[in-house]
Amino acid sequence: MSQQLAVPAPLQPTLPVAGSDLRFPVRRVYCVGRNYMAHIREMGNDEKAPPLFFAKAPDMIVQNGSIIPYPPLTNNYQHEVELVAAIGKSGAKIPVDRALEHVYGYAVGFDMTRRDLQQAAAKAGRPWEIGKSFDNSAPCGAVHPASQVGHITGGKIQIAVNGQVRQQSDIGQMMWNVAEIVHHLSLQVTLEPGDLIFTGTPEGVGPVTGGDEMVGSIDGLSELTIKIA
Ligand code: MN
Repeated sequence: MSQQLAVPAPLQPTLPVAGSDLRFPVRRVYCVGRNYMAHIREMGNDEKAPPLFFAKAPDMIVQNGSIIPYPPLTNNYQHEVELVAAIGKSGAKIPVDRALEHVYGYAVGFDMTRRDLQQAAAKAGRPWEIGKSFDNSAPCGAVHPASQVGHITGGKIQIAVNGQVRQQSDIGQMMWNVAEIVHHLSLQVTLEPGDLIFTGTPEGVGPVTGGDEMVGSIDGLSELTIKIA
């Protein structure tokens, strides 16, 4: 007897895989807080803390080319452009020197943030969730298989808003590289195919408002363009 669902099943979020008709199914969305020194300094945070992870829900993913609404409850809605690593192989307690074997590919992502709510929560000793995890908070571009583009260890990362560059750095400036991030996260949870890891943002974060167009780019990957309604 087949099982009947009490409410409609949620859709499985997916991302396009560059250069093919395949889709990448999204399981979990993890993000690294504080991974570029200049951004840690601009936020006034501890420079020696180990990598900090938080999560968003898979259905918070937004496709390239979308128009998204300005989110509720905030007056300081900010962009964070990030390299996203897409996991293709399950594992726990993955050693650093085997970690890249678990990475299927890479994409450009935006860790959209309600900065005022994040900072108020942090000040009150509460989780960041209200500032980080909300509808449409995880725009992500096409996944480029590492088998085609290699593993991303350097190259320019930037975001332009209405044609003006707001954040620009180099992937080589990350405090923890992708292999180290995968290692650390896999000590906390078991990673599975479909997991995404947003690897942190460089300095220059700032607000966006209705009508703004954000274009994120990383050398070797296709751009991510998102407009605010
Ligand atoms: Mn971030």
